[in-house]
Amino acid sequence: MQKLVLASNNTGKVREFQALLAPLNFQVIPQGELGIPSAEEPHHTFIENALAKARHASAASGLPALADDSGICAHVLNGQPGVLSARFAGEPANDAANNQKLIQELKGQINRGAHYVCALVFVNSADDPEPMIVQTRWYGTLIDDPKGTNGFGYDPYFFLPELGLTAAELKPEKKNAISHRGQALRELIIQLQTRSSRA
Ligand code: IMP
Repeated sequence: MQKLVLASNNTGKVREFQALLAPLNFQVIPQGELGIPSAEEPHHTFIENALAKARHASAASGLPALADDSGICAHVLNGQPGVLSARFAGEPANDAANNQKLIQELKGQINRGAHYVCALVFVNSADDPEPMIVQTRWYGTLIDDPKGTNGFGYDPYFFLPELGLTAAELKPEKKNAISHRGQALRELIIQLQTRSSRA
């Protein structure tokens, strides 16, 4: 089993990553279990933040690291909250306050289109010159009244018209099969397998 430190302390994300990586030959260790605090996320792009988190976790653990930076982008708000999704309503991060603020800002708007973004970065070491990078989107619409209790964050408001359900109404396996994070991880795994078969 290859040890891999997961550069996230978000319990919702850790749960999803552990489920997605369970069939592979990785022992996934959330950074919190190693006493590694969250990295700074000072950048304007998901990819730069994910890279900073991966390098931070790898430097602190001496292990290969996987990090994601994700968020939700409302189209009529020019992509907000975007990289600020976790702390949209301020510190400390609070899902209910973030959701309330987002729905308030969308009041009266007809364009409810939005997408989740996941930037995923894998580094072999803190100074890895060839980080593996994937970025994916999951499209939906934002509704005013929450539905469902699964998932986390903005999921009860993120409606999937083709399924007639919110992300919070999906079973975890279904969410992982179609979500931004699931898509990104599957792409990354293909890259990892391709690289290891050629190295
Ligand atoms: P990060 O941990 O800095 O990447 O912040 C990600 C934030 O984006 C989370 O705290 C949520 O607010 C939001 N987010 C990302 N992915 C999801 C998801 O799958 N469901 C709901 N909210 C999400």
